[in-house]
Amino acid sequence: MVEYNAPIRDYEFLYNEVLDAIPTAQRLGFVDFDAEFLSMLMEGWAEHTTEVWLPINQLGDIEGLKFEDGTIKMPQEFKDAYREGIEGGWMSTSCKPEHGGMGVPVFFQSVTWAEFGTAANMAMSVLPALSVGVYEVLTEHGDQELIDYFATNLASGEWSGTMCLTEPHAGTDLGIITTKAEPQEDGTYRVSGTKTFITYGEHDMTDNIVHLVLAKTPGAPESTKGITLFLVPKFLPAEWESGGVEALSQELMATHNGVTCSGSEEKMGLHASPTCVMNFDESIGWRVGELHEGMSLMFQMMNRERVATGMMGIGLAEIAYQNALAWARERRQGRDLKGMQDPNERADNILVHPDVRRMLLEAKVNNEGCRALAAWTGLLLDQMSSEDPEEAEYANALISLFTPIVKAHFTDLGCETASTCMQVMGGAGYCSEFGVEQFYRDVRISRIWEGTNGIQALDLTGRKITQNMGKNLRHLMWPLTEFIEENRDIPEMSEFNKPLHQGVRGLQHLTLLLIAEGQANPHFLAAGATDYCRYFGNILLAYMWARMARVALESVGDPFYDAKIASARFFFKRIFPETVGLAAKIQAGHKPMMEYPEAMM
Ligand SMILES: Cc1cc2nc3c(=O)[nH]c(=O)nc-3n(C[C@H](O)[C@H](O)[C@H](O)COP(=O)(O)OP(=O)(O)OC[C@H]3O[C@@H](n4cnc5c(N)ncnc54)[C@H](O)[C@@H]3O)c2cc1C
Repeated sequence: MVEYNAPIRDYEFLYNEVLDAIPTAQRLGFVDFDAEFLSMLMEGWAEHTTEVWLPINQLGDIEGLKFEDGTIKMPQEFKDAYREGIEGGWMSTSCKPEHGGMGVPVFFQSVTWAEFGTAANMAMSVLPALSVGVYEVLTEHGDQELIDYFATNLASGEWSGTMCLTEPHAGTDLGIITTKAEPQEDGTYRVSGTKTFITYGEHDMTDNIVHLVLAKTPGAPESTKGITLFLVPKFLPAEWESGGVEALSQELMATHNGVTCSGSEEKMGLHASPTCVMNFDESIGWRVGELHEGMSLMFQMMNRERVATGMMGIGLAEIAYQNALAWARERRQGRDLKGMQDPNERADNILVHPDVRRMLLEAKVNNEGCRALAAWTGLLLDQMSSEDPEEAEYANALISLFTPIVKAHFTDLGCETASTCMQVMGGAGYCSEFGVEQFYRDVRISRIWEGTNGIQALDLTGRKITQNMGKNLRHLMWPLTEFIEENRDIPEMSEFNKPLHQGVRGLQHLTLLLIAEGQANPHFLAAGATDYCRYFGNILLAYMWARMARVALESVGDPFYDAKIASARFFFKRIFPETVGLAAKIQAGHKPMMEYPEAMM
């Protein structure tokens, strides 16, 4: 039986003691949002996910979905659970109250909601996450008539959303998509083309599906510069035949819009999340945003989705950890090397073995470090909309840097942790009965979708560190160097502060090296990108662990805070040293791979 305790206490510590999230939220306009309400929200969501979503997670994996005659039938239990979520108002926590949403800060939806939801049932959680993403793009960039018609149903979850980017020949390279959009006299477009791998492209959980489709208008420039974004619903609005967008009503009529599904992929995990081939045949669509601005708008949506994807890494790693730990507490094998612990038993508990502790602590400490960075990232997502231009610029700069790191580093660690937790459980970890192997299969996609982790690393290295003349990095260096200075003379902090300082110096050195060598030979920069992204991720986690330790040192003697200090110590002694090896790999440059004879590969 799979267990899950949502880490509410950890989030309370982060939001209230490490990050001062409540005053920031109130300053940003969430005047009634306080710590008590945040705790209630977390408790309510934790209860919903553990009592409604978690019990059907394994059923979704085993039963999966059924593709029949162009339709996808979801398990009835999923439909019931989804409806309960709508009735509880859980699908729209960050959507605006005027559209029926709760209107709470983005950090709750993007971080805490995402972690609890994905841990309990990743296949289910991606449906509302996509709908909220579509809602955000639509309400920020769509025409008012479109907002009036689609926003409320997307916010409530009555209708769902998709992101239609990928085509059979165009995955990472979206510049070569061939889906076309022909302008019409009434201001609409006819969209035609085939999209593959579309998550929840077709299903029977909602009455309508609202697709955001990337396409090219006639004569558009080649490459991503010619891409425009369109909203294409599965079903057309009721009054479509009698008028334009102005005549739309809230009533849905089954006027099929030429959007069909011709298949759903069989895949390693996420069996209850449809992955569809979608065909658009002269489907009526509305432009969202300006002509040829599609990629930048889609990137806005993808940035939030990339943070949400990072949270999948933490969510699945956390539930895998909790179950591996519970299992390890019961398992007895071998004896403590320093002498038997339980002479009355035939063997000691496996927690006496340093290697088992290593695995579990790597999982715990990485999960908690990532959660801390995620909580900060979530708060920055809110600060991006600050009316204070300096605060908004600072938040934008950090989000630019953090998004690829959160996506890539958290999901790399998520996959590694799920695998490690299987290892803790020995053969039981590999067997379906105990659930952890499903987490491993489910989380694996997170390294691939929303742009592969290799592409995230290139985005960080090739774009984000040099963007705005290096301003992004400068915005990060201020709080980092200030923290290091403030803690320089505190003896209890030196075990954390010193390695952090060394690591930051290393980061500056490696950044300059990549920029300088990369100008002469782009292969040098690209060859080191993944290692640099991981190095950078470690620096950010080190900063968060040092900040958490600083707070925890004020409350020594309380088990929660003592554990934080012990975790910080484990991080700096057992995880952070990998930066030394990463630096060596970055410095080795491109030759070991690019001079390797291709024919011999
Ligand atoms: C289960 C599932 C759900 C999905 N959901 C959606 C969805 O809802 N909507 C949607 O639009 N798409 C979706 N996708 C598609 C997903 O986003 C793509 O699979 C992903 O972006 C990678 O594209 P690709 O598969 O074509 O790989 P490719 O682009 O062919 O890449 C293959 C390899 O080459 C590397 N590579 C490619 N180009 C470069 C480069 N320039 N530099 C360095 N390395 C490079 C990649 O990192 C990768 O390792 C989904 C995919 C899956 C499997």
